[in-house]
Amino acid sequence: MKFSQTFIPTLREVPADAVIASHRLMFRSGMLRKLANGLFAYLPLGLLSFRKVEQIIREEMNAIGSLEIKPSVVVPAELWKESGRWDAYGDALLRVKNRLGADFVVSPTAEEAFTSLVRDELSSYKQLPLSLYQINTKYRDEIRPRYGVMRGREFVMKDAYSFHASEASLDEHYQAMGRAYRRIFKRCGLSVIPVQADSGAMGGSGSEEFMVESEIGDNTLLFCKNCDYAANVEKAGCKPDFSPRPELARSATAGTPPLSKISTPGVKTIDELCAFLKTGADSFIKTLVYRAVNVELDLKAAPGCSGLKKERPAPGAPEVYPETFFAVAIRGDLDVNETKLAATLKASEVALAADSDVERLTGSPVGFAGPVGLGQIPVLIDHTVTAMTDAVTGALEADLHYQHAAYGRDFEGWLIADIRTVKAGDRCPLCGGELYEKKGNELGHIFKLGLKYSKPMKLSYLDEAGKSHTPVMGCYGIGVDRVLASIIEEHHDDNGIIWPMTIAPCQVIVIPVKYEGAVKDAADTLCAELEKEGVEVLLDDRNERPGVKFNDADLMGIPLRAVIGERNLAGDSPRAEIKARGEKESRLVELSRAAGDLAARVKKELEKLNG
Ligand code: ATP
Ligand code: MG
Repeated sequence: MKFSQTFIPTLREVPADAVIASHRLMFRSGMLRKLANGLFAYLPLGLLSFRKVEQIIREEMNAIGSLEIKPSVVVPAELWKESGRWDAYGDALLRVKNRLGADFVVSPTAEEAFTSLVRDELSSYKQLPLSLYQINTKYRDEIRPRYGVMRGREFVMKDAYSFHASEASLDEHYQAMGRAYRRIFKRCGLSVIPVQADSGAMGGSGSEEFMVESEIGDNTLLFCKNCDYAANVEKAGCKPDFSPRPELARSATAGTPPLSKISTPGVKTIDELCAFLKTGADSFIKTLVYRAVNVELDLKAAPGCSGLKKERPAPGAPEVYPETFFAVAIRGDLDVNETKLAATLKASEVALAADSDVERLTGSPVGFAGPVGLGQIPVLIDHTVTAMTDAVTGALEADLHYQHAAYGRDFEGWLIADIRTVKAGDRCPLCGGELYEKKGNELGHIFKLGLKYSKPMKLSYLDEAGKSHTPVMGCYGIGVDRVLASIIEEHHDDNGIIWPMTIAPCQVIVIPVKYEGAVKDAADTLCAELEKEGVEVLLDDRNERPGVKFNDADLMGIPLRAVIGERNLAGDSPRAEIKARGEKESRLVELSRAAGDLAARVKKELEKLNG
């Protein structure tokens, strides 16, 4: 490949909105241009590296028996209505109409399309397990696209979907995917941290995210200083600060004065209460009312739930409560983790209730809810509250709070669970060690879906005895663009990108100091020899000063550089100057041995990463 014949518009200046290195360097090295907010064009150099990431992913998917297909990106809305996500997905879903007025979606992910495809073909258990994937365009109408292709609106994702006749078979494929992901990231030269992630209403250990540490990461991750516990904050649990057993709490109440009311005029928030009563937030019980959608827990015995409307979506399937309200009591200095709350309730969605609902259900203005005497709705108690034997909490009346409230003596809950947001300093749920936090960026996600799509979309197969069953599913995504940008984040310096050999757009750049005469001949010969060795070469044949060529080579991050100049060609043994992108000093190598030397280094680097 000759520089003059390709299109690599390198830039000296940095785009104004580029705040992270990968964004700056992808633009400056001529890999990428922007079409609109969140929409980009990969130019030839960028596309070469992009295809290499895709190919590594493809090889590892194929190696575990997943089969590549290529469905359309535009999908009929009917499928999304079947799964319930036409309404539930929100504004990130790009909905379009065709000329006949029919609704379509531009796929942000493809559970529906794959489930529908398999539904049409699946009849027998003999066809299972089945794992299919695509490497294809996705569109998400992200509210705030940022950091270049890290969070774009249109991007490419590898997404795989698997279908199984048993949990054991799903687990086996899930584990194989996890191993394939680890290989993919290693081959890309990425240091990735696998963490436990929220697995929605499914529970269990059915979801793992692959993160890179990043200051601009959207995810908070918790790690244990003692053991290898690692989890997304959405999922992270912690050892309670005390035993959550009620009998202990009861015995501790012996010295607590009786429950009494105190006047707290206009004092509603925890901060206001702290100032008013001159105590710390940890002596209050905060009580929040949540609205939960599609709750699958059995609520028959729960207070205020006996008359609730239920839906029974399929024969034998659990009852679903489309809309329910819960009170959540938690120590005043802590926050409720809504993802953990939703998982505890087996709800598809939870959100703070509207003020009017809070007032209706607690019989008091917002700010005065408390667990004592709250009978209209089920009260969920975070573990921390079971240790509170002398607390202040809302008295379900305007301008009044209770003091000396004791768990077990003055109130109990309907359900005790770990629903707090874990933070640095809390204790590891496995070993009790101290947890610390890091910011992370998600590159991939593997997930046991169970029956989440196969059930509503009525996927079925017949077993050996001719009995019909619903298969369980898994889904597995990796963002190609985000992987590429993350590689640059991990491999660059002040001068530009330092590509790992596996991802570099080309492996060697040959720079003739001046592309004419003997220098031109030597450079052409070296390129031809390298190509014969199977090495990918870029020849910088431009009529530019050597300094400009060197700077661009550094910016583009080509792993190996061979410089041919008049001075080194003179004499009996003409030589080339060879340097790796990450090295400071170059080395003189006899021109006749240069191609072999470079090819060997390319091979060694590839083996190191791919091995
Ligand atoms: P995030 O929390 O970052 O929005 P997500 O959990 O919604 O990601 P998934 O649905 O799990 O993402 O998608 C799988 C992968 O697709 C992600 O791990 C990420 O690499 C990639 N991805 C998701 N959204 C984007 C985006 N807007 N731009 C680029 N890549 C993305
Ligand atoms: Mg995810």
